[in-house]
Amino acid sequence: MMVAESLASNNKVLKIRNLSTHYFSRRGVLKAVDRVSMDLRKQEFIGIVGESGCGKSTLAFSIMRLIQPPGKIVEGEILFNGKDLLKLKDEEMRRVRGKEIGMVFQDPMTSLDPLEKIGDQIVETIQMHEDVDKKEALEKAMKLLESVGLPGDRVNYYPHQLSGGQRQRVMIALAIALNPTLLIADEPTTALDVIVQEKIMEILEKMKREGRSIILITHDFSLAAEKSDRILIMYAGWIVEMGDSMKLVAEPLHPYTKGLIESVPDIWLARKIKTMPGFPPDLINPPPGCKFHPRCPKAKEICKREEPPLIEVNGRLVKCWLYE
Ligand code: SF4
Repeated sequence: MMVAESLASNNKVLKIRNLSTHYFSRRGVLKAVDRVSMDLRKQEFIGIVGESGCGKSTLAFSIMRLIQPPGKIVEGEILFNGKDLLKLKDEEMRRVRGKEIGMVFQDPMTSLDPLEKIGDQIVETIQMHEDVDKKEALEKAMKLLESVGLPGDRVNYYPHQLSGGQRQRVMIALAIALNPTLLIADEPTTALDVIVQEKIMEILEKMKREGRSIILITHDFSLAAEKSDRILIMYAGWIVEMGDSMKLVAEPLHPYTKGLIESVPDIWLARKIKTMPGFPPDLINPPPGCKFHPRCPKAKEICKREEPPLIEVNGRLVKCWLYE
């Protein structure tokens, strides 16, 4: 925690300290987010990267306080613009959601009401938080759609009349309808082709230029590397490396980050892709010591016994015994 403090500047919008979110089942306790600390600065674009099940979406849902039973945030602090979100009453948190923090989900069809016109859904969101009449809210909805590259008349369409990329734009319009300062996008382009993906990413970059902070959750390392100011690598509920995107790509420190980079296809270098051996661990019964040790080519004896500390190395944070 001391290290995380020393790396961050004062203009933080989000400070997460020692956050743990667990899922409780008959088989045992699954530690999806395990004592995570991180910061996000004003107008910063962070990419949170890791394989499926590493805890990145649970981290995003924890920030929004959208964890459902059998999941529970069991410890930690989430300070957003000075407020501890975990101490807010449900009603206060509802106001923060949408008005101060917007979220874009992976599959717009599960978030949009198929029976309601796009415009009505945006109008409803605006009127829930702002004292405006329907005409004014509808005009705002049209402007919002235009700001994400859709014609304003799409307010009259139903979700099924739009393509996957257009629906994702609608989701972004909904997420920014109340002008939040933080936008969290959870795998927003996974189901889209690369051209539509690029257009969605351009919108997120525009949101950043307009003054927002962005958290992009993705399993696509190259996408995060290209778009983010900083990358945060998650493995088995831990942050294992965090730092400036360019430096992290040029010189990855953690063996897991190196493995992720080596498994990214590169059509220009035409180098051979190396797949990482093994699978992410069962988080109900994770391996002792470093949770990555069964897959790690650099594992030492201590790695099998003791959890590595999070260490600062050249302005980067890395959780690995190699740097102790
Ligand atoms: Fe590999 Fe050990 Fe570092 Fe874990 S702590 S990543 S096992 S070298």
